[in-house]
Amino acid sequence: MEIKRTKIVDIFNPELVGEHVCVKGWVRTRRGNKHVQFVALNDGSTIKNLQIVFDLQKFTEEQLRPINTGSSLHVEGTLVASQGKGQTVEIQAETVEIYGTADPETYPLQKKGHTLEFLREKAHLRMRTNTFGAVFRIRHHLAFAIHKFFNDRGFFYLHTPLITASDCEGAGDMFQVTTLNLGDLPKNEDGTTDYSQDFFGKSTSLTVSGQLEGELGATALGAIYTFGPTFRAENSNTPRHLAEFWMIEPEVAFNDITDNMDLAEDFIKYCVKYALDHCRDDIDFLCQMYDNSLIERLESVLREPFVRLTYTEGIEILSQAKKKFEFPVSWGVDLQSEHERYLVEEHFRRPVILTDYPREIKAFYMKQNDDGRTVRAMDVLFPQIGEIIGGSEREENYDKLIAEIERRKIPMKDMWWYLETRRFGTVPHAGFGLGFERLILFVTGMANIRDVIPFPRTPNNAEF
Ligand code: ATP
Ligand code: MN
Repeated sequence: MEIKRTKIVDIFNPELVGEHVCVKGWVRTRRGNKHVQFVALNDGSTIKNLQIVFDLQKFTEEQLRPINTGSSLHVEGTLVASQGKGQTVEIQAETVEIYGTADPETYPLQKKGHTLEFLREKAHLRMRTNTFGAVFRIRHHLAFAIHKFFNDRGFFYLHTPLITASDCEGAGDMFQVTTLNLGDLPKNEDGTTDYSQDFFGKSTSLTVSGQLEGELGATALGAIYTFGPTFRAENSNTPRHLAEFWMIEPEVAFNDITDNMDLAEDFIKYCVKYALDHCRDDIDFLCQMYDNSLIERLESVLREPFVRLTYTEGIEILSQAKKKFEFPVSWGVDLQSEHERYLVEEHFRRPVILTDYPREIKAFYMKQNDDGRTVRAMDVLFPQIGEIIGGSEREENYDKLIAEIERRKIPMKDMWWYLETRRFGTVPHAGFGLGFERLILFVTGMANIRDVIPFPRTPNNAEF
């Protein structure tokens, strides 16, 4: 009778030594001689491989021949303390069943040491490598940490729609959603597309942010967060932008900009600490393989408070910097990632929260300051990443909000439902958006955002 399978993550347990155990997984490597063969088995539950020892007095060469890198096995045997270096226990195999073979001539991960670029072309298999196994286990733990953080603080998880009819947010170019036949579009008399014949009876797109709906939730439930996919048709092939990414957007009634900054700082620190506490083997591996300053960087973020300063003060520092920037700096410009990284990595050497940006470069819903030219925005800037969070206190004054919408010529008819939060029982409130993949970039030390989401969507890339 088949005995119950033990996951490899649970097998490095001295109490199991001497037991008869069952493990299942994929072969990473096989080596040995004509007396004994060693197989490194991985089942995805941990970065660690388990060594399986095949004594050739018990197994024929014939029996072991199909066991190559990539093949899948069911092994039973005795767990023993290991003689070899690098592992504490190993299995002396008694039976083996081969589920599936992997032809060494064609299996793409036959060799070790493939480049990340090569592995991006093999996104359907790359999760079987040490690197991507580590990254996606960390991704899972961070997602769990995010829900735990908000749940423990009484926030409600609100599901905002992915298909939306409002295109006023201006956060990025949108992907249209339609069932109209693109080869034969129905037309109005003036030649424009007749969306009344479309599925929703109007033009719709994929959401660029759940914030506006999140504000409806916050002004009813008090404190909410969203955590879902977000779509931006950014044609900007950078290592920090995806066309489909995941965003976390808390929104809190009665919070002002300072509460918002405190929440953002606590939240990121909680996530980083959670990863250090729960993903240590995977983080250690990434630290050794790619970036030996990773753990120090994560720990230093936990140690010190983030620097808080205004955009105007930031511009002052940047214009006095000795460094030559590709994009020149003056009051009113949108900061480029080179500017953000200068402040964080060279000037302060700590995460920075920049506030009170010029009104003209930020969204219409941000609370206006009394100076008439800045708004209560906040961006959290991180080493290696640049902007990781963007947020603000919201304009809760109906008249000011309307005036701003009119000034920007944003179509009002699409906005009536949002405006009712300010017409009926308006309250001060604030929130922000954290790009989930940018957080994972920071925690894993990976350099390209395509390597921290299982199936990246970028211009000209939707294969897997
Ligand atoms: P950026 O200037 O870096 O393009 P943004 O100002 O457009 O960012 P927001 O609209 O404030 O960003 O979105 C909130 C957060 O979502 C950002 O701080 C970032 O972490 C993340 N984010 C924004 N756009 C993308 C994208 N295309 N891919 C991945 N994450 C993104
Ligand atoms: Mn953007």
